[in-house]
Amino acid sequence: MSKPIVAIIGRPNVGKSTLFNALAGQQISIVKDTPGVTRDRIYADVNWLNTQFTMIDTGGIEPSTNDLILKSMREQAEIAIETADVIIFLTDVRQGVVDADFQVANMIRRSGKPVVLVVNKVDNFKTMMADVYEFYNLGLGDPMPISGNSKLGLGDMLDEVIKHFKPGTAEEEEDERPHVAIVGKPNVGKSSLINKLTGENRVIVSNIAGTTRDAIDTVIKHNGKEYVFIDTAGLRRKSKIKEDIERYSIIRTVSAVERANVVVLMIDAKEGVTEQDAKIAGIAHERGKGMIIAVNKWDAIEKDDKTMNKFTKDVREKLAFMPYAEMLFISAETGQRLPKLFDTIDAVIENHAMRVGTGVLNEILSEAVAMKQPPSDKGRRLRLYYITQVSVKPPTFVIFINDKELTHFSYTRYIENQIRETFGFRGTPLHFIYRERK
Ligand code: GDP
Ligand code: GDP
Repeated sequence: MSKPIVAIIGRPNVGKSTLFNALAGQQISIVKDTPGVTRDRIYADVNWLNTQFTMIDTGGIEPSTNDLILKSMREQAEIAIETADVIIFLTDVRQGVVDADFQVANMIRRSGKPVVLVVNKVDNFKTMMADVYEFYNLGLGDPMPISGNSKLGLGDMLDEVIKHFKPGTAEEEEDERPHVAIVGKPNVGKSSLINKLTGENRVIVSNIAGTTRDAIDTVIKHNGKEYVFIDTAGLRRKSKIKEDIERYSIIRTVSAVERANVVVLMIDAKEGVTEQDAKIAGIAHERGKGMIIAVNKWDAIEKDDKTMNKFTKDVREKLAFMPYAEMLFISAETGQRLPKLFDTIDAVIENHAMRVGTGVLNEILSEAVAMKQPPSDKGRRLRLYYITQVSVKPPTFVIFINDKELTHFSYTRYIENQIRETFGFRGTPLHFIYRERK
């Protein structure tokens, strides 16, 4: 279910962005109907030999003086240790091994996180290998030579990265408890919500032992059932640079969302939906997670009988790419509607994993087609032959058609709405894949 996360860390100018772009290539997933999500390449989905993972570039604003470089590398390493399944430690054969590399290598080794030591700018694998061996001194195993520019050695490097995936993923797969990511911008009330929930539901097992990353998970029991809350507020960065704080907050959000079944996006009722909210919502939307929008601090605003409707309209407009999201008005402070939050989480998780029968689906499809003609182009009309649900989390449907060129997103949305009218699927996105059958 959850895709592994691979973080790239390294000194300025070793070639992190170049490597990131080479790996992301065409595979950066561009969700066209997600406005407000800027494609600053902090993270990207990579597919290597049918293994998928999310890659993050921890390098933010790159400092120039030596002591600042060390500080920045420590921050990168910390965030990578906290959020990643595997770390790519990128170095530069031309710069050689420098002191900061040793310090960061020690940090990573102590953390026990799987790491792949990669030596970049090895533009000639014959003449330059002698310089690569120097990197054995870091004590992180075999250095893998690559050239990000000329895309040399990337396959071997990815093979090495993927080797580290299996155990962790299998372990998480076994944990059947609902995983709920609490996301939202700073000060929206994430910590307050977790505190209130732990306070009111008394039986708490906090801080699951194990990896560093799990230290930000909180298990809360409600009505006899355990929920794992993944809190992105958790550890606060010490960084003083605004861009870096923002970058780290996005990385932490990606990592939390990746591990969740359902995402609770908190929005500040006092501020309304901001650009940052839309950006965070976009991360969850792209990953196909169950979605609940919780408008928090509802206690703190002046209300009349129209306030809730007005607010709902505003949220729906600004987050128009996720009309399926459930919406709730809560107060982490007073506890207003928190029991309802649990009910909604349960319902969304169920919908996210719901399977529906092929027979009923095809009845809906043929009725839909009869009611509204499919689009046509130059005298040819889209034909929809057959629909079937192929997977869950999120529910994904394959529709067999005559010609992909004839499809149109508005007609897909129409079909989606017809399906939702029958089955609801509230709180979960639905994915549609077209296959041609001539
Ligand atoms: P970052 O600061 O770590 O993100 O590094 P960049 O990706 O911006 O690369 C820094 C410089 O190294 C750029 O001028 C790249 O063109 C160059 N570079 C990256 N990869 C290679 C490589 O494989 N070989 C050579 N010779 N130069 C490279
Ligand atoms: P985080 O950064 O998202 O973890 O936000 P915090 O939980 O630290 O909350 C930020 C501020 O908002 C604190 O001063 C909280 O007391 C306040 N706050 C959080 N939830 C509520 C709420 O439901 N109502 C009101 N009035 N204030 C809240």
